[in-house]
Amino acid sequence: MASIHLKGLAHRYPAASSGATVPYALNPLDQVWDDGGAYALLGPSGCGKTTLLNIISGLVRPSEGRVLFDGDDVTDLPTEQRNIAQVFQFPVVYDTLSVADNLAFPLRNRGLEKAIIDARVAETLVMLGLEGRAHERARSLSADDKQKISLGRGLVRTDVRAILFDEPLTVIDPHLKWQLRTELKKIHERFGHTMIYVTHDQTEALTFADKVVVMDAGVILQVGTPKALFDRPRHTFVGTFIGSPGMNVLRCEFDGEQAFVDGVKIPLDAATCSVARGRGLHESTSVRLEIGIRPEAVTVSGEPKTGPAVRLIAVEDLGRHLLLRLQLGSQPLCALLPEGAEIPEQPTLHFDPAMTLLYADSLLVEGTDDTEQTSAVRVEAYA
Ligand code: ADP
Ligand code: MG
Repeated sequence: MASIHLKGLAHRYPAASSGATVPYALNPLDQVWDDGGAYALLGPSGCGKTTLLNIISGLVRPSEGRVLFDGDDVTDLPTEQRNIAQVFQFPVVYDTLSVADNLAFPLRNRGLEKAIIDARVAETLVMLGLEGRAHERARSLSADDKQKISLGRGLVRTDVRAILFDEPLTVIDPHLKWQLRTELKKIHERFGHTMIYVTHDQTEALTFADKVVVMDAGVILQVGTPKALFDRPRHTFVGTFIGSPGMNVLRCEFDGEQAFVDGVKIPLDAATCSVARGRGLHESTSVRLEIGIRPEAVTVSGEPKTGPAVRLIAVEDLGRHLLLRLQLGSQPLCALLPEGAEIPEQPTLHFDPAMTLLYADSLLVEGTDDTEQTSAVRVEAYA
């Protein structure tokens, strides 16, 4: 196992024609993945997740910066010498070999004793629910089962420095996904491998990982626990990408004491106000200000005069929740109410200042004590 340090790393793929400048697929970043951490790398399609993973495993050589494993520079080492297991989105199996031989292959390659190989293969077969099919040829298996073998080949070795998963459950049947994710978590708890799990699916990311790394457009926007990403997204993209529906983001003004959304007063907590005033945001006209509030934190009541009136546009029944689509001034927002809640005919809103965040040019306005690992400088490059 190893800690992985991406130092001043950036990547541009080569230009198709000479002379053309290609934008960064990965903008310059500095990122440490702690030894034994369970990470999810979450972001929309095309944001650079696979590029980042392939740079760690050595399939792609970064155009700038270094890759360090436990402080050792491995940037110039080929994949085979990095001792990393990688599971891809689509099955990589030897069709002519049996299920068991497919799993044994990475172990035989490393010259392990037969008894150890047999034990590890047997264990992995049970974990994947393939114990009855050990001697079938891989060719005869369904796409689901082939992908399970791919997963197994990534998990069968216990001596790897890290295991990288690139959207490994894409082709897996939904009811199996949960089960396999649970298995991966158990394996992490048992062997303590550094694991990086790439996905565009927030549920997968939040249920698998201790720390989630959120990316967009080649930039790491935030690294945090699922709770931190939910409660204090450092960038409006993180707030809107995570959650179902995502955080409400409303254009606002700030007078030094509170925010105003289309003239409607929105209270902010004292700490936020003080930081915002310190940065002169009440006097600035060049900064785009927004408030962010989760639909879960928007309270709706039927009591007139307790808060600003809003227009109720639609109600959707989500089973355990009711989703209210509302309009405050000219801006849409959502509120989530518990199932069975009464929906007032003339709703008024209440924003809890502790849950109402202020954003300046998409970045959270916060004190220095609660900033997280991601470098704000890099994020500014994205905003
Ligand atoms: P993700 O895995 O998040 O979907 P990728 O890392 O595959 O994103 O891609 C990031 C960006 O790099 C995309 O704009 C993609 O088109 C580009 N890209 C990926 N692979 C190559 C390649 N081999 N050559 C040129 N551009 C590439
Ligand atoms: Mg990808």
